[in-house]
Formats: sequence, structure tokens, C-alpha cells
Amino acid sequence: MTRVIERSFHTESAMERQEWVDAITGLKHSLEGAGDSRGSRSSHDTRAMSFIGGRPEPADISMDSFEMLKVLGKGSFGKVMLAKLKSSGAVYAIKVLKKSMILEKNELAHTFTENSVLAKCSHPFLTSLHYSFQTPDLLCFVMEYVNGGELFFHLRKEKKFSEDRTRIYIAEILLALTYLHDQGIIYRDLKLENLLLDAEGHIKITDFGLCKEEITYGSTTRTFCGTPEYLAPEVILDSDYGLPVDWWGLGIVMFEMLSGKLPFNSHDYEELFELIITQEVVFPPIIGDVAQDLIGKLLHKDPAQRIGGGARDGHEIQEHPWFASVDFDKLYRREIPAPFVPQVKSATDVSNFDDHFTSEAPRLTPPKPGELDATSSSAFKDFDTIKPQADLS
Ligand code: AMP
Repeated sequence: MTRVIERSFHTESAMERQEWVDAITGLKHSLEGAGDSRGSRSSHDTRAMSFIGGRPEPADISMDSFEMLKVLGKGSFGKVMLAKLKSSGAVYAIKVLKKSMILEKNELAHTFTENSVLAKCSHPFLTSLHYSFQTPDLLCFVMEYVNGGELFFHLRKEKKFSEDRTRIYIAEILLALTYLHDQGIIYRDLKLENLLLDAEGHIKITDFGLCKEEITYGSTTRTFCGTPEYLAPEVILDSDYGLPVDWWGLGIVMFEMLSGKLPFNSHDYEELFELIITQEVVFPPIIGDVAQDLIGKLLHKDPAQRIGGGARDGHEIQEHPWFASVDFDKLYRREIPAPFVPQVKSATDVSNFDDHFTSEAPRLTPPKPGELDATSSSAFKDFDTIKPQADLS
């Protein structure tokens, strides 16, 4: 009979730990006998594992574990970089947020929600999180690298998308948002910059920083947040709002993809908000009748009358005639080929990202003198308690 003895070890450094791991692995191999590799791991595999609690999970993952390759984009509190895990050569997109900025802007709750949403959600059209960790001054999300670029980038190049192409994108976003809503999560920041294409050309929604949990049909929230051009009337009107704000956002991105323009636009926010609240959508002739009908219903000013605004949520939208040709089950299984496949030359290719970002040196800027010191703040102590199913290797 095989007796399994489980032990936890504490070491002071990664190097010391590695020595332990090598010694244990060596002993294990010598006991198993040379040449029998069944069930044994290479020392390379063991490098990122710990045995604490008997569940393998990445240990000692820190900034030093990664080589930063390129800057992919920037958000309000930090940047997203393409990075290579030194131990395996695998590439990831790491979103790095500055703790000082999070505290300064009072964004702690949003950051924790982002971690929690990323950790618990798994859907073919949502960007997945592999791991998250913190350093004294940073919070880091290690995500899959979605290398086809932002829809914003592709639409800017191509001016407009065809109806068939738009239909697949909108249908994939619809499935992802319906899934989030089914989990009690409202997304609140739908816009072209947050819609990425993967290597096969399918949608991956990214940036879960404005999500709110525990919102189901009929429950509401009040926080004024989002991106001005995409805000639903009920958000601007400072009234309680709920899940239908995401269907408004879907209407805006659908209009943008088909026409290359925003339905409500002004540099002056006061004027922009007035348009959103009062103006009916004016459709350019390029948008077909059935598509116009759907957009009109998504951009209904009254959330209770908006398509998807009832208890059936996104399932009601799936039944609109504009989607008659879409088999949503096949789409979910990724069996419908994407309408456009981005050119991706290698695993580390960044040519689908804006060179405004990718030409920047992939450096992490150290905290500036006088910048709020968040390193000793206990505010982040619970960040590590929410962990995604770790699969860094
Ligand atoms: P965010 O702060 O999450 O809005 O990210 C800023 C930008 O970084 C996005 O608009 C994307 O261009 C890029 N980005 C974010 N996440 C990823 C990812 N997982 N893979 C590739 N690029 C990403």
C-alpha cells in the first residue's frame, strides 16, 4: 500500500524553495527508479507549484516571474502589458494597477469587484483571469493575452462593418452579457475599447472594473459611472438603474459598428447628455430596416420598455428577427466561424494594438516621491482571498 505524507514547507526566498523542490523531486525520482517517469513532474513543472493544502497552486509568482514585453493599453489606474512567464515561456496580458491611485480615487470596491468577477466567471466570450497577486505598491491581474486587438482599432481602420459581421459580434456580446446577468452581475461599461478579438476573431469582453455584483432582475443601483457617450438615460437622470443599462450599451455599439458613428455625440457633455435623454435615434440609410428595429428597441429611453428589460433579459433579445439566422447554441460552442480573422504572426505579436502604446517602453514606473504611500495600507489585505482557479504553468 502507498502511504502519502503531506507536508507544508515555509522558505524565505524563491531560490531556497527551489532547492527544496529539486531535492524532493530528486529523492522521489530515485525512489521510483530511474527511467520510470509515470506520474512524475519535471522540475520545470514543479517550479510554479506549491504543495500547501495539497492543492497545486502557483507559488512565488511575483513581478520577477515575468519579463515585460510590450505595453498593450492603458486604463485609469494603470496599464496592461504583454508579459512572458519566465519559467514556461507562456505569454499573458498583465493588468497592473497602482494601489496609490486606487486609494486616491476611492476605487477600492471596484477593484475588488473586478478581481471577484474575473475569478468566478468563465465564458467563451469573456477574457479569463489565470491568477492575481499583489506587490507592496501594485495589484496585478494575469489574464489570457487576447491578441486580435480592440474592435475600436479594427472599426477605425475599416470605417464600418457589414451587417453579417456585426450580427456575429453583437450575438457573442449578447451571450456574454446574458451570462453575466445570470450570475447577478451588471457590466456597465460596454464600449468598443473593451471589446477585443481573439486569434480566431471571436469577441472577448475585457475590463470588469465597473461591474457590480448582486444585481438581478428588478434590483437596482445608483452609482453614476460608465463612459459618457455610452451612458443610458436612467444613469444620467440619477435614477435607480439595473441590468437594462447593458442593453442600452449594446444598442450603442451595434449602431457604431454598422454606421461607424455614435448615435449621440457631442464634445460638450451637457449637450451630449441632453441628446441621450431627449433625442430619438436618427438612422443612416446604410442600416437595414430589421437592424434599425432592434437598435430602436435597445435604445428605448425607458428601461422597463427596452428590449431585454423584462425578466427574460437577454433571452428576449435573442428572439428578435435580426438574429433569425444565428444558432446561439452553436455560437456559444464557438462552432460558427468568426466573420474576420485578425492577422496574428506569433504568440507575442502586438501589431493589432495601437502603436501609441506598443512603442512605449514596457516599464513599471516606481512610485514618485510624494505619491501617496499605499504600501503599508491594510486596505488590500483581502485581495488575495479571492483566487481564480490557478492554471499558470
Ligand atoms: P483596461 O484597463 O482593462 O480597460 O485595459 C486597457 C486596454 O488594454 C484595453 O482597452 C485593451 O486594449 C488592452 N487589454 C486589456 N486586457 C487585455 C487582454 N487580456 N489581452 C490583450 N489586451 C488587453
